[in-house]
Amino acid sequence: MKPQYVTVSFSGGKDSTAMLLRMMELGEHIDEVINVDTGMEFPAMYDHIEGVRKIVEAHGIKYTRLANPKSYEYIMLHQEIKSDKFGTHHGYGWPTPVIRWCTRHMKLDLLKAHFRPLKEKYEVIQCIGLAADELTRLSRPANLEPGHRHPLVEWGWSEEDCLKYCFERGGAYDEGWRDLYRIFNRVSCWCCPLAPIGELRKLWKLYPDLWARLQEWEDYMNAHGPYYAKFKQDWTVKALGDRFAKEDKARREQRLLEEWIL
Ligand code: SF4
Repeated sequence: MKPQYVTVSFSGGKDSTAMLLRMMELGEHIDEVINVDTGMEFPAMYDHIEGVRKIVEAHGIKYTRLANPKSYEYIMLHQEIKSDKFGTHHGYGWPTPVIRWCTRHMKLDLLKAHFRPLKEKYEVIQCIGLAADELTRLSRPANLEPGHRHPLVEWGWSEEDCLKYCFERGGAYDEGWRDLYRIFNRVSCWCCPLAPIGELRKLWKLYPDLWARLQEWEDYMNAHGPYYAKFKQDWTVKALGDRFAKEDKARREQRLLEEWIL
């Protein structure tokens, strides 16, 4: 029998944060907390992750940050790629529902490499922060592997319970993080083309500097070849930005009209 080694996957999101802090509160044994960093989180998310890292380490628990030495931007725009259609070219372009290269290169490969030697020595228990009401994600084979544990499901904690718990017990480092959850329904990489249009609209409106980076990347892709898919299905960043600006103007005019009539 190999000894057990308990890890907690911590993304910085509300569910994994609630799971981790509650496990610590309950005095559960944790050997290692693992954060996989794509480098593309919102700045406020990094403040939160850093705040939680300090809490974890103050409890004497090992904290590991895994990150691909190549950046998201490098892999998206510059990494050498071979494809049947275009031969050798550079960069995968935007992630799409079919080619989610970021999940593989920025997350899964790193986790596999990290767990491989651990699994030789230990029976590794991976605590994963899926909430009790995330039934679709819970039924995926990738979340049901031997050694996976779902503490939030054991406790019957929904996504709403997790957010409430985090809001009640967060520290000063959490202010910007709380705003993220007041603004967005889901918080993940700010540049994710797979985010719903409504979430991208909020990014355009409230984070113009980040939107400008998306536009810079798109300009680069436009200047460097036909290999790159559009940002989101039929939408380019430029077309989406124009659409949001038009909708925003119409909304403001409507509001002014209503104020004037009243
Ligand atoms: S959130 Fe989007 S951009 Fe980030 S790793 Fe997942 S699919 Fe890729």
